[in-house]
Amino acid sequence: MAQPLTCPQCGQGKVFRSRCHTLMELVQSLAYISPFHCQSCSFRFPASRLGRSYPAQMVDRREHLRIPVRLFLSFSGGKVRGEGAVLDISMGGCIIESQAPVHVDDIFYLQIALEDDQAPLEVAAMVRSVSSRGIAFKFLRAAQENKRLLAFVHAKTESFGPRSST
Ligand SMILES: [Zn+2]
Repeated sequence: MAQPLTCPQCGQGKVFRSRCHTLMELVQSLAYISPFHCQSCSFRFPASRLGRSYPAQMVDRREHLRIPVRLFLSFSGGKVRGEGAVLDISMGGCIIESQAPVHVDDIFYLQIALEDDQAPLEVAAMVRSVSSRGIAFKFLRAAQENKRLLAFVHAKTESFGPRSST
């Protein structure tokens, strides 16, 4: 009886086999060890495919599931301060609507109002791109371990209901 594969980081079962990105992963795949990707928390990990069940399709969608939101945010960094609205968010970053004059690679400290009655989520992020759609931020490493962000993304992913296969 095959054991369903679960994510070692968050314990959720929404893991998909991912394509090999590195030589190490290619070598491991010869021993039935494949990279897997957790859709809930975006954790990537190697696991043995033997005796395990997991969704048959190879999902190579964006590594981070993006969640459309409408959240108030303020940010600061260097001499620039601004406010705006978060349009979508994932464990990897967010896209915001703002007129603030920012440049690619600038680092900002974001304060995102996740819930009305609680202190804002504070994360450091780097500007990845600026376009008419908005400013795309990439969260710096520490943010990805942020428990509140993880819980928020989880809750939204659940209510979004990526078809439950179990
Ligand atoms: Zn996970």
